[in-house]
Order: sequence, then C-alpha cells, then structure tokens
Amino acid sequence: MIRQAVIMAGGLGSRLKDKTALMPKGFIEIGGMPIVEQSVRKLFAAGIEEIIIGTGHCAEWYERLAVQYPGIRLAKNEGYAETGSMGTLACCAPLVYGDFLLLESDLLYDAIGLTVLINETHDNVLLASGATGSGDEVYLESDAAGFLVRNSKNRTAIVRLAGELVGISRVQKYALDQMVSYMNAHRSDEPKMEYETAMSAVSTQSVRIFIRKIEYFLWREIDDASHLTMAEALYPKIEEAESLRQIRREVLLNPGPATTSDSVKYAQVCADICPRETEFGEVMEWIRAELSCMAGKSGSIETVLFGGSGTAADEVMLSSCIPDTGKLLIVDNGAYGTRFAKIASVYKLNFDVFKSSGFTPLDTEAVKAKLLESAYTHFAIVYHETTTGLLNPAPELCRFCHDHGITTIVDAVSAFAAIPIDMDREGFDFMASTSNKNIQGMAGVAFVFCRKEALEPLASYPMRNYYLNLWDQYQYFKKTRQTRFTPPVQSLYALRQAIIETKCETIEKRYKRYSACWERLVKAVRKLGLTMLVPEEAQSKLITAIIDPASPKYSFEDLHELARGHGFTIYPGKLAEANTFRIANIGDIQPDEMTTFTQVLEIYMRTL
Ligand SMILES: *Cc1c(COP(=O)(O)O)cnc(C)c1O
Repeated sequence: MIRQAVIMAGGLGSRLKDKTALMPKGFIEIGGMPIVEQSVRKLFAAGIEEIIIGTGHCAEWYERLAVQYPGIRLAKNEGYAETGSMGTLACCAPLVYGDFLLLESDLLYDAIGLTVLINETHDNVLLASGATGSGDEVYLESDAAGFLVRNSKNRTAIVRLAGELVGISRVQKYALDQMVSYMNAHRSDEPKMEYETAMSAVSTQSVRIFIRKIEYFLWREIDDASHLTMAEALYPKIEEAESLRQIRREVLLNPGPATTSDSVKYAQVCADICPRETEFGEVMEWIRAELSCMAGKSGSIETVLFGGSGTAADEVMLSSCIPDTGKLLIVDNGAYGTRFAKIASVYKLNFDVFKSSGFTPLDTEAVKAKLLESAYTHFAIVYHETTTGLLNPAPELCRFCHDHGITTIVDAVSAFAAIPIDMDREGFDFMASTSNKNIQGMAGVAFVFCRKEALEPLASYPMRNYYLNLWDQYQYFKKTRQTRFTPPVQSLYALRQAIIETKCETIEKRYKRYSACWERLVKAVRKLGLTMLVPEEAQSKLITAIIDPASPKYSFEDLHELARGHGFTIYPGKLAEANTFRIANIGDIQPDEMTTFTQVLEIYMRTL
C-alpha cells in the first residue's frame, strides 16, 4: 500500500527566468491553478495520505500551500542553491516510512499515471512515455527484462530505449536509503546530483527499478518558456481525458447514504485482498486511529469497527455497554430515539423512555429532573434527530450525567464529521456513527467510539449477542488487527479515502459548507412561502423537514420525480404528527448545487 508521496520542489527554475525569480516553478498557473496544487489534489484523490514537499527556493509559497492542505508536510533543503534534486530528496527521506510516489514539482500530467503506478506489481517503478519532442528529454535504457540500466539526455548514449522519463516514480524506502547513501558517497565529485542519477546507480547495484511505459501518456514538464506553451496546449487534453472517467453525478438530498466524491467511488476498485493479510490490518488500523482523532483528544478514544449500517452501531452500544444491574433512560423525540427504545426492549434491558415532541426543543431541565428521580446508571440520546433535523442538547445533558456518575450512550450517526465533537468535552462515553453519512464514504461500516475509561468495565458485562459484541470485537482487533468476521473490504477502502478527504477539508470547514447549503435552502423555502417544521434555532443545519404545501395538487411522488429528473434525490418525512418532506444537505455537495435544487423546487411550486 502506498501512503505517502514526495514532491521535490527545491530548485531555482532558472530557465524560466523572471517567472520564477520570486516564485517556485510549481506555482506556475495553468487552467487557473498552480500546477503543483493540481498535483497535490490528484495525489490525495489517488489515496495518498500524506505529501512531503522538499522545498528550497521561495519556500514560503509552499508554507502557505501546507496551511491550505493539512495533509502536506514540508522539509526544507537549506542548501538548495548548491545541490540538485537528490539533495532535496535526501532532506525528505527522514519523513518517509514506506513505499511512496516520487514526483517533480513542475509537472502537468493525467492522473491516470498515479493509478498505473499504484497498481504496479514491481516495488520500484519509473513512469516513462513515448516521444514527447520536448527538446529536454531524459532517455531511459532498460535491460531485456525491462529494468533500468541508465538514463541520459543524449539519445545516442542509449542502446535499448525504453522511453522518456516522466518524473513520476514509485520507490521503496529501501531504495531511497540506497540512493541517499550513493549521494553521500559522491558529494564532492557531484554536488548537484539529480535524483535520476542516483536511481540509475542503485538500479545496477542493489535494487531493480522497472520502467513502466505508457506510450501516449499526457504530460509535460515545465522547464522553460517553450515548455510552458506546450503545457498550456496540452491542458485541455488532460482535462478531457480525466473528465471521461467521471461517474454520472447524482446529488442525494436524502438523509444518507450521502453523495460521495468520484475518488471515494474509485477507491473501492482495487486489487483483491484477503482481509486477514497484514496489509489490510494496517488499513483498518489507520482508519481506526484517524477516526479516534476526529472524535476526541488523541489517545483517549478507541474506535471499534463493525460490518453493518448505523443501526448496527446503535445495537452494539445498547447490547454491550450496560451491565445486568444497570438502569437506562432513553430520550425519544424522533424515529431514532424510538429505535433506541425498540432495541432496548428486544434485549429486555431495564429502561425508561423520556418522550418529547419531535419538533420542539427538548426541555433539558425536565430531562435532568427525570435522571435524578430514579437510580439511572446509563443515559441514551440521539445527538441529531435525523427525522426532523432537530439538534438535541446532548453535550449539556451528557456533562450533567458525568457529574452524577451516569454513563452516556450517544447516537451521533448523522452528527459526527459535520458537527465538531470532542467526546471528553461533551461527556460522551460511547458514540455511534457510520461510513455513509457526513464522513462521505460508502455504506457498510458501523463504528462505535469509546472513551477508554468507559470501555474497560465492559470486560465483565454479559454477552447478550455474538456478532455485535463490543468488547469481543475490540479485544480481537487489538490482538490481531483483524475483525472477527469478514469486514466489508471495499467499503473500508472507500472509508479510508473518505477520511483522507475529510482531513483535507477539515470537519470545521465541512460544517461551514453544509451550513452554506442549508442557508440557500432556507432562503428559498421562505421565498416560496413554505414552512419548516422545527424552529430555525433548534435545527442542525444538516437536514430540513418542510411541511407539505397546502395545495390539494401537491404530491410528494411528483416532486420526487421532477427532482430526480434533474439529478436530485429527495426523501419523504417520517413523522406521524405532520406531513413533511425532508431535504438533507450532507455529503459531497456544493452550495451552488443546492441553489439549482431550489430552482427545481420553485418550478414545482408554480405547478400547484
Ligand atoms: C442514519 C441514522 C442511523 C442509522 O440508520 P441505518 O439505516 O442503519 O443506516 C441511526 N441513527 C441516526 C440518527 C441516523 O441518522
């Protein structure tokens, strides 16, 4: 599995003269975006978790880029003026921990090149293309088996031509260490060594480097003004090639599964793997660790993964986290609170229900009074009631529980990864969520977050079921880095990609984007004279329940069909008290798409 990329970006780019006197080459803009930023986006979309950029000349440009993309780490080559690209690569080497993609910073390329390298069976691979006619070619020579023998800018020095060097490679950590040693041994005779020189040297000695040629690969390296002109001409071709791989867009305005990015969809298409392989264990361990960091202070939260939908995580919590002597209070102010109570009754738990309206804010004082009335040991609440979009004051109530020694169980299935949550601060002991809502992955993975202190006592609790047992699943994974039963392998790969993208966006900014979509919706709802079920100040801004238009001509089915025809999927209400339809604004959607939806809604309203 390739998790890191290194971009060598220390060079002066002196052949581009005044363009790069005060700016690194990578910041040349084509199609309205710096080429290195395009590369960064393609790398994250291809499943790279962390990008290390080796900087030098005008490093502050990269410092600003790293603020924008939290997955970037920087390593500065202080001696950039006296060294070559190998010097910059050596500065990045201490941050590399496994196989990685190595790129030059001044490349414009079709992202398919990254996929090809990631899918390669060889560990060390140079990407090559057919003739570019750029005038600045690095020719590659291979042996009969296709492995690198030498590179040269002089075509006549090459006996068996394997292609032209692109500047994107796949490298093992071991090969990198060999390259760094080679550079150190030749510091005095070749201070400005380029990385391809070190590669060729080690490839004939200790590591074999395969040359993977894509004859018609779309790419340009930009070293001088003529290259820039060629790159600008090539840009539309790259855009077209990449757009042909886009999946038809359907915007899901139903309350989950949410709209996903194409890169999340494509993450599921990968080599078959047995989930009991170490490599897959590492994928799950990474997912677990990253999710834990999103739910609270690092080190205080354990995340346990199950195959299943969000309800599985709810059932895990209720069946596993309460001892026989426990007594539970459940808040029910919507379909999911009702579901909590249903699960509790199936397991014959000792519990009471605090019932409250689905569209008026919960009376927190009344809940607190109820909690003190009887010897409750456990409290369960839905943070965001997806039924109506009502946001419950779960943190306030759970902190109150903590003050009174009551363990808290929270369904945050539709809140997590949108509303920032810190379980320690919020007083959440156990919290459920799933892969197909705000984290923007595919359905199939349920997760339970646990505060470590709350988790340990579970060892002695009764095992009320087999598959959904929290303590067993936790222990087994800790010991083996495997789940007890077959996990949803492809959904986990998609979840890994969704986490990469969540970290890029950050949860705070995601909630801002969702809120911006909600504001566009609310504005249109008012303009069209429609009414929202829940008062605005009690809403989550993630889903809006809208009361059906009064016209006798109104039909949810008609509105649904019209919206579907425009690429939007909407969802009926789920309440006995009022007839509503619901518009969710979670997932990979943009405010402008919500505006388009409101125009569809307006067209429909005019027909009534
Ligand atoms: C979506 C959701 C669930 C889980 O529903 P599934 O159909 O099992 O995916 C649970 N609780 C809440 C609040 C939800 O929004």
